[in-house]
Amino acid sequence: MLALVLLAAFLLFSGPVPRAQTQSAWLEPYRTDATRLIAAATANQFAWDRLAELTDTYGNRLTGSANLTRAIAWAVETMKRDGLDAVRTEKVMGPQWVRGQERALIVDPPEHPLAMLGLGGSVATPAGGLEAEVMVVRDFQELTARAHEAKGKIVLFNVPYTTYGQTVAYRAGGAKAAAPHGAVAVLVRAVGPMGLRTPHTGGMQYEGATPIPAAAIAAEDANRLQRLVARGQRVRVRLEMQAHFAADVETANVIGEIGGRERPEEVVLVGGHFDSWDVGTGASDDGVGCIVTWEALRLMKTLGLKPRRTVRLVLFTNEENGLRGGTAYRDAYKGQAGQHVLAIESDSGVFAPARLGFTGSDAARALIQEIASLLAPLGLQQVGLGGGGADIGPIAQAGKVPMLAYQGDATKYFTIHHTPADTVDRIAPDEVAKAAAALAVITYVVAEMGETLPK
Ligand SMILES: [Zn+2]
Repeated sequence: MLALVLLAAFLLFSGPVPRAQTQSAWLEPYRTDATRLIAAATANQFAWDRLAELTDTYGNRLTGSANLTRAIAWAVETMKRDGLDAVRTEKVMGPQWVRGQERALIVDPPEHPLAMLGLGGSVATPAGGLEAEVMVVRDFQELTARAHEAKGKIVLFNVPYTTYGQTVAYRAGGAKAAAPHGAVAVLVRAVGPMGLRTPHTGGMQYEGATPIPAAAIAAEDANRLQRLVARGQRVRVRLEMQAHFAADVETANVIGEIGGRERPEEVVLVGGHFDSWDVGTGASDDGVGCIVTWEALRLMKTLGLKPRRTVRLVLFTNEENGLRGGTAYRDAYKGQAGQHVLAIESDSGVFAPARLGFTGSDAARALIQEIASLLAPLGLQQVGLGGGGADIGPIAQAGKVPMLAYQGDATKYFTIHHTPADTVDRIAPDEVAKAAAALAVITYVVAEMGETLPK
């Protein structure tokens, strides 16, 4: 019954809004091409097939991996074959974190393996591993209150997932919080809704604290440890990790454009990040974001559309463990930051129900909201808040550039985020096509319209 009510509500709110509400005379010249872009994007599953080719052939793409280097070469060749202009790589130096072999297990009461993934940036355990009693806490406050118990222990933060923004603080800062109290290692309940006993990796920082090994364990394992301890049992865990940093490596942003017909110096920037964590195949995070933004340019080329302004696609490198691609782009284009009229990023997957988010002035939002009326056939005509993106953030800040984001359903996205389960199998072809269609229309109209999107 609830499902029926939800379905009815979905149909009601996702259906086309009445024509009278969407009539904006200035938009009329773009309506035909918007319709053509949507039709071309949704006519087949080209974008999903390209995502599958990327993720099947090159796999996951951590900075410094041969996978990423080979995937970058493929992207350059493929953009050239698409007929994009000025296809190039721009060199970026990035950190190289290497996971190595790793495992964790309960050794007393014996003996149970834990579903774990070391956190990106963690140090190794001593050779041969370390073994210690587990201290379970629910949050930072409990650690502070019981700090005197932490010496010599493995501290486990068993923090139930609320939102990514809130819960990720434990992954990023758990080791830093536990190390000063003498903890020998830290385990963090995987940051995501309850999955299928999936650990989630992700970045962490010591920020000057003594570096102790840090790993995520599946929520089910964290709860089991908590229940064992709550029954008064002393639980010992063995942790073995070989994680380390190697020397910085050369990587690159990949760039392709459609050069502007009349105002080539004005740029509509679109993109996602091409690197991923070293598990799964980086399909939702963020292979799909790269492919759907790339589609905006490919579809325009296919339809012979060459807008007034330049449309620039950037596949950013090293978002996951350094953001060096985003900062390198800002440094390289600092002088033109103010001529970026809109920056679009897709880095939240494309799972339904998806939405558009925008960050910018009221004047810019009003225009974007009008343009989005062209997306009524896709059910994406409402533009909400939250237009940021990690990679476009630096250039947007430098040039006070409005930002737009395509946001897939967060619960589905964060269930597989940074896990071995982030593969193309979980993504529906029509959801990829819909994202590509929406981004192509917004990108095209903002690049083509007479008035420059106001800051
Ligand atoms: Zn991402």
